[in-house]
Amino acid sequence: MDYDVIVIGAGAAGGIVACVLAEAGRRVLLLERGGDEPSGVSGRDHLRNQRLSIYGHNAGPELADHPRVAVTSDGRSWLVSPHELGYQNNAACVGGGTRVYGGMAWRFMPQDFRMASTYGVPEGSSLADWPIGYDDLEPFYERAEWEIGVAGSAGADKFAAPRKRPYPLPPVESNPERVVLERGAAALGLNTFPVPLLINTIPYNGRAACERCGMCVGFACPTDGKNGTQNTMIPRALGTGRCKLITGAMVQRIHTDERGHASGVSFFAGDKLQTCMAGAVVCSAGAIESARLLMNSATTSHPRGLGNDFDQVGRHLQGHIYTGAFGVMEEPVFDGLGPGVSIATTRFNHHNEGIVGGGLLANEFIKLPAIFVKWAMPPGMSRWGLAAKRYVKENFRRTIHVQGPIQDIPSADARVTIDPFVRDRWGIPVVRLSGTTHPESIRTADFLRRRAEEWLAASGTKRVWSYPPRLGLSGGQHQAGTCRMGDDPRASVTDSWGRVHGHSNLFVMDGSIHVTNGGFNPVLTIMALAFRNAIHLAETM
Ligand SMILES: Cc1cc2nc3c(=O)[nH]c(=O)nc-3n(C[C@H](O)[C@H](O)[C@H](O)COP(=O)(O)OP(=O)(O)OC[C@H]3O[C@@H](n4cnc5c(N)ncnc54)[C@H](O)[C@@H]3O)c2cc1C
Repeated sequence: MDYDVIVIGAGAAGGIVACVLAEAGRRVLLLERGGDEPSGVSGRDHLRNQRLSIYGHNAGPELADHPRVAVTSDGRSWLVSPHELGYQNNAACVGGGTRVYGGMAWRFMPQDFRMASTYGVPEGSSLADWPIGYDDLEPFYERAEWEIGVAGSAGADKFAAPRKRPYPLPPVESNPERVVLERGAAALGLNTFPVPLLINTIPYNGRAACERCGMCVGFACPTDGKNGTQNTMIPRALGTGRCKLITGAMVQRIHTDERGHASGVSFFAGDKLQTCMAGAVVCSAGAIESARLLMNSATTSHPRGLGNDFDQVGRHLQGHIYTGAFGVMEEPVFDGLGPGVSIATTRFNHHNEGIVGGGLLANEFIKLPAIFVKWAMPPGMSRWGLAAKRYVKENFRRTIHVQGPIQDIPSADARVTIDPFVRDRWGIPVVRLSGTTHPESIRTADFLRRRAEEWLAASGTKRVWSYPPRLGLSGGQHQAGTCRMGDDPRASVTDSWGRVHGHSNLFVMDGSIHVTNGGFNPVLTIMALAFRNAIHLAETM
């Protein structure tokens, strides 16, 4: 055997899994299809980044090598490139999404783990409870906050679930937007607090504090003050001397023996196919690619793919519908200092009469001017010409954007399957993305955008507007749910430890195993689950 464990994907979860196992004395091979450029190299191109990818992006995957097939509701399909709408991209590099994320670090609420019991199951949806609850994850949320580094104000969010330890770092500083929004929240009786962020507000873990340059979301932090697995857990894993990281390693398939035991993986390093053997395999390739890997690893005993005897792999694909509103103030409120996002309320995450779930509202990160033109112009305003230029000049610093993710109501038909015809650069069959989120999500999104409008109006904006939410396939940067965990192998893919049903040493540890995705950005929950499940694997191997 070459390694004790092979971990596929060096992202949010994979970086943690590799570190926990290596520090527990296991020999780990960590395989990442993307590269590992130093922070800052990913560039500052406002039209080619992971936030606005009009002409390309900056954190992978390579545009030409990784096509997918997207399917419309009337069954038409087309080929999409990673930077195009419909691809549902996150990132492909060491650190995965955490290298370029905004770093909002939310704990889910207890109700988020019990959605079906709390609200019932809307007809046609696949809303379900998790097999674990908030209390099971609480100690691991704490580990994620302290070992990766979260800045926040413990106790300030009066709807948050109980925590045992404060945040390790003080919250981000206030800014003029927060002052204005606090005024509006006070008028409405809304509880607000500083947004928890995976950012060094003071020096921490051997790295300097954030310099507030504003190149946060969509970019690798130029000063390395943003905390992801690439500058925390992965260097620690490599420091043990027991973890080997190979970048540019595109895993083709997972091998299993006749009893269903995982024995190793094959991967392309450049164009050369290699095989490594291990005592266990952990798939941490993100919700879309983990499902693809399980299905592409079909055998004669598992012809639909590993963990897929009951046609569950790839179903329930979900992310977050984003909704919110814009408001224009008389005076400038935008100071251009990063990260910009500074104030939130979780009042609408639950307890909304007649609504299933809900979501948080927060002000936006520093907005690139190109994004302002794309998103933040009022209805009817041209996006080009002199009038548009004048509008941007006069309103860029006066506009406040309040938005948030709503808890998607999942559907079993929103899914990842394998396309029968299209293959990537290495000849590996690619995914086909089809279906939509359940229509109930639209009611929730519409409810939340009205609350955003009210908050802005109460804050003294002279004009407020928003756009109605649209139904579609959800996934993208918050992709989750495709290998949901559960106790019943006929309705889930893994058990509550991420172990694939029917395969004792094959695991999925990433956003795929979320049963539902909360009304919050998901990464802290992905990290907490990775800590919990990797510790369990290290103890039970
Ligand atoms: C611009 C942006 C902003 C975001 N902001 C936030 C935020 O503020 N808060 C928040 O909670 N979340 C945020 N996210 C989302 C967050 O980054 C993801 O939820 C998280 O990274 C998902 O973790 P994961 O472990 O499931 O997968 P990933 O982090 O995507 O890791 C998967 C890794 O597996 C690799 N991989 C895939 N297939 C293969 C293969 N076949 N062989 C080898 N390697 C493979 C991929 O290249 C990737 O590096 C943001 C994401 C982006 C892109």
